[in-house]
Amino acid sequence: MKVIDHIKQAKSTLFSFEILPPLKGKSICSIYEGIDPLMEFKPKFINVTYHREEYVYKKRDGGYLEKVSIRKRPGTVGICAALMNKYKTDAVPHLICGGFTKEETENALIDLQFLGIDNVLALRGDPIKTEPAFVPEPDGNKYAVDLVKQIVELNKGAYQDEEIRQAAPTEYCIGVAGYPEKHFEAPNMNHDLRNLKAKVDEGADYIVTQLFYDNEKFFAFVKACREMGITVPIIPGLKPITLKKQVVTLPKFFHIDIPVALAEAFEKAKTDEQCKEIGIEWSIQQSNELIKFGVPCLHYYTMGKSDAVKRIASGVF
Ligand code: FAD
Repeated sequence: MKVIDHIKQAKSTLFSFEILPPLKGKSICSIYEGIDPLMEFKPKFINVTYHREEYVYKKRDGGYLEKVSIRKRPGTVGICAALMNKYKTDAVPHLICGGFTKEETENALIDLQFLGIDNVLALRGDPIKTEPAFVPEPDGNKYAVDLVKQIVELNKGAYQDEEIRQAAPTEYCIGVAGYPEKHFEAPNMNHDLRNLKAKVDEGADYIVTQLFYDNEKFFAFVKACREMGITVPIIPGLKPITLKKQVVTLPKFFHIDIPVALAEAFEKAKTDEQCKEIGIEWSIQQSNELIKFGVPCLHYYTMGKSDAVKRIASGVF
């Protein structure tokens, strides 16, 4: 079932979460171990991230360095199918522009549709770690909006090969990313919101936000979206901070702020256990306030660890 239909049918705030495919070499059981404890909260959908290749240098005989392309976390499509089969819940694979030609994107969408998956989160993807800026494939999508356009075309039965027209249409429900604290590359919030609106105008059904710790920023973001004419549901993304070092690493990776009160509480904390409690309590309060605000769904980033999200869900749902 489509995420947008889950939202339309919901009588109260939905619960959902995001997982990462396991590192290459690990079994899918590590995924199930993280998901099993969360199933009692009846997630309507589970997102599975997509991780593109990275380049590393391997030392070879004779001392020279060889540049090698590796994918550390393959398996997004297989995991989605496995989750739908095992838990009878909907899976939302993330699909990115980076590393894909339009033809490869189309083939991935065909695979997903044949597996009974009718949801995707359409993203551009970050630049490759060793590259300063995002570079699309020569015949790939440059921005998420271009990927949305391609999926919408496929939903109308228009394939890349212009000879395949009025063919079997796909039926994707499309989610896109939004940034309550602005995407780091955008020169200003207004510019970023106009680009977000373009994704919605092209056919995105709903928005999932980047993680944030200050609900006021989310409320202001929703207000700005509505004023700009973005009317689709906006799902907040939340991640509990459980380690002291994340007060520094999360702003660096995700270009977000940590509120003063939260940062100070972590500074005062003496043990890992205290830190975890502070992070969980903050997330419970954020969640309860967001429910009061009327969000359609609370979406948690598990980053492979479910114990904190389980504690939060127990306190909220
Ligand atoms: P876009 O919407 O394309 O925006 C990227 C930047 O370009 C923004 O600054 C925007 O303002 C600007 N822009 C957009 N359109 C135009 C235009 N026409 N002209 C000029 N500028 C434009 N990454 C992964 O690799 N795998 C994942 O699984 C993944 N999951 C994510 C899930 C969520 C909920 C979120 C919020 C992010 C996720 N990301 C993931 C990270 C995401 O790929 C990065 O944040 C990426 O840098 C931007 O992706 P986007 O889809 O928001 O890009």
